[in-house]
Amino acid sequence: MKFNEYEYNRPDMNEIKAKYNELINNFELAATFEKQDDCLASINQINADFNTMESIAYVRHTVNTTDEFYDREIDFFDENKPLFEGLNNKYYKALTKATFRDQLEQKWGSQLFVLADLKLKTFKEEIVADLQNENKLVSEYKKLIASAKIEFEGKERNLSQLKPFFESKDRNQRKEAQKAYWSFFRENNDKIDDIYDKLVRIRTSIAEKLGYDNFTQLGYDRMERSDYGIAQVVNFRKQVNKYLTPLTVNLRDRQKKRIDVDKLYYYDTPFQFTTGNAKPHGDAAWMINNASRMYSQLSPETEEFFAMMQESGLMDLETKKGKAAGGYCINFSNYKTPFIFSNFNGTAGDVDVLTHEAGHAFQNYSSRNLGIEEYYWPTAEACEVHSMGMELLTWPWMDLFFEEEADKYKFTHMGSALSFIPYGSIIDEFQHEVYANPDWTPAERDKAFRKIERKYKPDIDYEDNDYLEKGSFWKKQGHLFFMPFYYIDYCLAQICALQFWKKYQEDKTGTWEDYMKLCQAGGSKPFTVLLDLANLESPFKDGCIKSVVDPISNWLDEIDDSNF
Ligand code: ZN
Repeated sequence: MKFNEYEYNRPDMNEIKAKYNELINNFELAATFEKQDDCLASINQINADFNTMESIAYVRHTVNTTDEFYDREIDFFDENKPLFEGLNNKYYKALTKATFRDQLEQKWGSQLFVLADLKLKTFKEEIVADLQNENKLVSEYKKLIASAKIEFEGKERNLSQLKPFFESKDRNQRKEAQKAYWSFFRENNDKIDDIYDKLVRIRTSIAEKLGYDNFTQLGYDRMERSDYGIAQVVNFRKQVNKYLTPLTVNLRDRQKKRIDVDKLYYYDTPFQFTTGNAKPHGDAAWMINNASRMYSQLSPETEEFFAMMQESGLMDLETKKGKAAGGYCINFSNYKTPFIFSNFNGTAGDVDVLTHEAGHAFQNYSSRNLGIEEYYWPTAEACEVHSMGMELLTWPWMDLFFEEEADKYKFTHMGSALSFIPYGSIIDEFQHEVYANPDWTPAERDKAFRKIERKYKPDIDYEDNDYLEKGSFWKKQGHLFFMPFYYIDYCLAQICALQFWKKYQEDKTGTWEDYMKLCQAGGSKPFTVLLDLANLESPFKDGCIKSVVDPISNWLDEIDDSNF
């Protein structure tokens, strides 16, 4: 069946409410395991139906935002989702107290119950008003960022429209573009500080109402981390600082020589090559064609998967009028299929969509028969192992897209993967300090940020930009506002994905099998258990980062980037 044949019907909330409540009641009263298990299956189906309809509406809305029908349907979900989540919460409560919990756990695995426990720990009726306020503040931040109108080179632009100028060959132009970009944050600094201040206070108060000491552990629980805690993350960052900070300083030193500047200022870092970045050598149809060749050569499983995605119309990749911005991967439970959405723009990022988002989609497709709605996607750090892993496992086919520029692409790809990790660690360490010190003033926060920044990126030079020099860079990092403690997930995942990169060079078949195992397990297990399953070392373990960094460092040393 093709995506455009998927039937959409608005969920009937009254019917759902009655049916769901009845099933929860039957679940609680079930006299046998079989009866309780049947109720679980029926509840799961209600979830699958609701989620499928929401996904269909969301995709059709983002593909064409001018379609009034789906615009209204999105409003419907915005309004009714909290009601549905309330029902889910009742179900999770019943699950944790299930009469036949042992047998249910044996059949479905314990992860569903772990997730249910976490959901209950992070919610109470009495925090509903606080949650609404938290959401309001997040929307306020997003609106403020989206409202940016900056005069630059005779034209009014938003923040993302300034970014192409960051890579300008003209040094003065890239400096001016950065100045213009940061002028928006400087002008709105008090507003942003105020929003963040309120967010920290509300989150701290929610944590206290739920019985936590401060927000940090609640943040972890919201991220559904059940198998590691703050101490492990601290140890991870310590290793990042020890092994990745010097490596990335060295990479920037090479960049300085490559682009021929006496000093690499903050506005020089996005400018990688005097000859420009590697770009795919063809249009969208050509790229998709090559992706299809790539996936048929990578493995029988990816061949079948990519053919299915194409035949069923489950990718919308090209930019069109009326289409929403950005890119994502989503799934339709009832059809057991994923969907990839993106806006191709002719840069290497298009190829990243075909590998990164396809990695997410491939995982979802590989775990489509797990039978539990909560298992189709794992927790966020595990999700990014599939996507970042796929980006690296497809390296041998990059010449299909970049031809003679393939090595340049790989060098850039590896460099940005590595450089991201210290940055992600800065953001993470900063949040830990912020929530440990909820009474800090905005000035104290900025000061703390700059101190952490210096630790992980000692060479960063803001030249005459006093705004960044006083520690304001974090104000553009939306994750701090809308999803606290999320950011480190990308760093954890990247270290795991890089392990796949290393192993694939030594043993293609075995590494692919491990990757498949990881994808097939979906979200049925917590992060570190998934890693065991895929024969990956936990990034929290001493020695893990070093074992990844050493071979990469050797690989980088062998590349003559002065040619790029
Ligand atoms: Zn991703």
